[in-house]
Amino acid sequence: MSYDVNNIFAKILRGEIPNDTVYEDDYVLAFRDLYPKAPVHILVIPKGEYIDVADFGAHAKEKEIAAFWRAVAVIAEEQGLPAGGFRTIANTGLHGGQEVPHFHVHILGGKALGPMLAKAA
Ligand code: AMP
Repeated sequence: MSYDVNNIFAKILRGEIPNDTVYEDDYVLAFRDLYPKAPVHILVIPKGEYIDVADFGAHAKEKEIAAFWRAVAVIAEEQGLPAGGFRTIANTGLHGGQEVPHFHVHILGGKALGPMLAKAA
């Protein structure tokens, strides 16, 4: 599978679709999810073209990987999440329910989030 340059997050990175940015550096953009599932729901994406967490882990440069996870930590701190706790999710592919084929991590928090998953049938 090759990277789809017309996915929604690629369009956001090109400035073709607006977003509610909470963090940006040379390698990373983070913005609020349009359909929040928790009081804080932020999407963190690399600026490089990676389809999912497996693609990112296999092919991203070390500085991109370091910048990404540093940004997750910074954003969580800025949003006041570590004290109460929070959740990070990277949906991947069909079984993971990934809707947008540009690697992203959801940061969710601001209240007790309950069990991690409904049991898959
Ligand atoms: P996933 O199912 O892991 O691929 O998550 C994709 C997420 O992108 C969903 O939580 C959507 O609500 C969110 N989303 C879709 N379009 C936009 C957009 N234009 N701006 C912000 N979030 C979006």
